[in-house]
Amino acid sequence: MTTNRRWKRRVRARAARTGESYTAALRALRQLEVLRMRGFKITPAAATDTGAVRAVNEDSVLAEGDLLVVADGMGGQRGGDVASRVAVDALRQAFAASATPEGLIDGVRAANDAVRAIDDERPGATDRPIGTTIAAVGVVGPGDSSTVAEPEAPMLVAVNVGDSRVYLLRDRQLTRISTDHSMVADLVRAGALSEDEAAIHPERHILTRAIGVAETVEPDVAEVRSRPGDRLLVCSDGLFNELAPEQIRSVLADTTEPDRAATTLVERAVEAGGRDNVTVVVADIAPAGA
Ligand code: MN
Repeated sequence: MTTNRRWKRRVRARAARTGESYTAALRALRQLEVLRMRGFKITPAAATDTGAVRAVNEDSVLAEGDLLVVADGMGGQRGGDVASRVAVDALRQAFAASATPEGLIDGVRAANDAVRAIDDERPGATDRPIGTTIAAVGVVGPGDSSTVAEPEAPMLVAVNVGDSRVYLLRDRQLTRISTDHSMVADLVRAGALSEDEAAIHPERHILTRAIGVAETVEPDVAEVRSRPGDRLLVCSDGLFNELAPEQIRSVLADTTEPDRAATTLVERAVEAGGRDNVTVVVADIAPAGA
């Protein structure tokens, strides 16, 4: 088979799998190809669990190549699970159309519109609206102007609304790169609470920003130039409300396989009480061929 035919088959297979248009699938695969040529390989893995208490898993997750997303739906019997899934889908489509920081920001806005649209159609939509958090990382390769002679490492672009989080493990150190939108996070920023006090505060679940709640929403955005060996963690609050930062860090630093690290984190959170849905994405940025 010619390279061209094999390539077209890959594009069609991706389009069938993701629901993207042929053009969007082509663009996404080209992007991944650019990253591969620049010597990077992304290995994503995901794990999720309803936990020990809740009846329904309202978290949704996507870990596919260059896009990692976790959304934590709210609304109980009234459709938090649908809200998180719709939001993830909207973000995926926007990033497939434009694998850029702007694509991610547009995706968050599209997620807001999509959740509000289903909320309008719900029976009994007069009560509290459904909503969801969203936390995502897009691995954004160098633009068309970047030359192969001067390769640039891809950017890790994180966007978030609400209290689902993005962390970066680099040199065995764990750093949070997302910004919580919660009442206790505001108090920490104002110097009225310590991080430790916030972590056990009874009202730590109260969000100041969420997808689907207001007519418009803006995400926080953080960009980090990637390095080979970086490991990303995207998670819902069911993880960090059950496990201390050091427990999370040591599992990530000491577990080689992303798959195993994701599963272990979810298992530990459920063992520690599992009072909420737990969702974790772990993705490694490695030199190609490593
Ligand atoms: Mn949660």
